[in-house]
Amino acid sequence: MRDKNIVIIGAGYAGLRAARKLGKYNSARVILINKDDVHVRLSEIHEVAANRVEPDGVAVPIRGCISSGASFVKTVVSRVDFEHKQVFTGTGPIGYDYLILAIGSEPEFFGISGMKEHSFTLWSLDDAMRIGAHIEKMFTAALKKRDAQKRKELLTFVIGGGGLTGVEMAGELAESIPCLSKRYGVPQGEVSLIVVEALPDILPVLKPNLIKKARKVLESKGVQLMTNSPIMKVDSTGLELKSGEKIAARTLIWTGGVRGNTFIEKLGLPIGGRGRIKVNEYLQTTHPDVYAIGDCAHIVVDGAPVPQQVEVAFQTADCAAHNIMADIRGYDKKKYRPKIYGTVVSIGRRYGIADFGTISFTGLFAIMLKRLFDIHYILSLGCFRLTLEYVAHRIFRKR
Ligand SMILES: Cc1cc2nc3c(=O)[nH]c(=O)nc-3n(C[C@H](O)[C@H](O)[C@H](O)COP(=O)(O)OP(=O)(O)OC[C@H]3O[C@@H](n4cnc5c(N)ncnc54)[C@H](O)[C@@H]3O)c2cc1C
Repeated sequence: MRDKNIVIIGAGYAGLRAARKLGKYNSARVILINKDDVHVRLSEIHEVAANRVEPDGVAVPIRGCISSGASFVKTVVSRVDFEHKQVFTGTGPIGYDYLILAIGSEPEFFGISGMKEHSFTLWSLDDAMRIGAHIEKMFTAALKKRDAQKRKELLTFVIGGGGLTGVEMAGELAESIPCLSKRYGVPQGEVSLIVVEALPDILPVLKPNLIKKARKVLESKGVQLMTNSPIMKVDSTGLELKSGEKIAARTLIWTGGVRGNTFIEKLGLPIGGRGRIKVNEYLQTTHPDVYAIGDCAHIVVDGAPVPQQVEVAFQTADCAAHNIMADIRGYDKKKYRPKIYGTVVSIGRRYGIADFGTISFTGLFAIMLKRLFDIHYILSLGCFRLTLEYVAHRIFRKR
């Protein structure tokens, strides 16, 4: 008999996985809440931003992914009353016995003047579609300008941040620029693509020899890399670096930082690094019946914070689901131990870098590995049909 209510807020990788796991048990009613009725695979949205993959190639209807033991409510959660165990939503309050917070993260602007107002962020499907449309608009507008300086400003695309997201975005964009130049009749030589990074090098998570390869590939695709170059100020005409250098550009895609969802601040729970919810080793917040998983949780294991990535979202979902069922059925809870196998980064469609510590791969094989990971993630959400759609979008329906 399903006599316990488990409410999950957020249907990203973490929340959806937890809903699938918990929906299989017949001792609880699972209610999954999300702002939109689609689950977005955030780790692929740069492909949409660069106009290669259609938006529905990274978004799937949530109702088609959850098991029969779970129900889905499309609404926004505005508040949680932990004392009376109620979640307040746009469609009314929902009571819970156990609550899982899986509300993800947001871009961090580090207080850089004008960054929030004048940059494009890459943290939702809407963001990606906005970037895709804006890039095409810049090419159209450039065609109408006779003034060389104005054309240059329109055709300069800057990516702020040379981490994984920034490099993946740069790789995709570098490959779409020749197509756009051809389509709009704009000489490719007039287009600039720049990655601006505050640190001494890009991709600090990779080994030095792999960073060197990434630099070489990006540069061979025409990407200009500016390292040791913190952005100090942004306005509608461009950006200014710490050195005082100004870059005139109408497009700055900001990928320089990530923090917990601002909704977390309203919850009144203890907050850890970068605005995320502090949890214990069982992923419980200060309320033992409330868990936080995925990007929104600040998890420290052996003194180090656990990174925000898909693998962690899945693993924390599995651990929280286990611990809730352990509580209901009276068996032992598990401590969360992260298993991070490595990093795989794509630089465009055909080149990847996979760093697994003792072993690494580059080129087409690494990109195939990345695709296999994507498929593994999709299969982990339990739907074979989604895997077929993933393949179809990347082979038959790519732009
Ligand atoms: C461009 C990009 C590339 C990336 N590449 C990789 C990669 O290659 N490998 C990797 O491992 N990771 C990658 N990541 C990181 C990875 O996507 C995240 O770690 C992962 O999405 C975290 O999953 P999550 O479920 O915690 O949060 P999310 O996927 O962000 O899901 C949170 C959900 O909560 C919902 N929500 C939030 N607030 C509310 C509310 N108040 N009410 C209702 N619903 C709400 C949101 O709508 C959303 O659906 C990338 C991220 C980006 C943006």
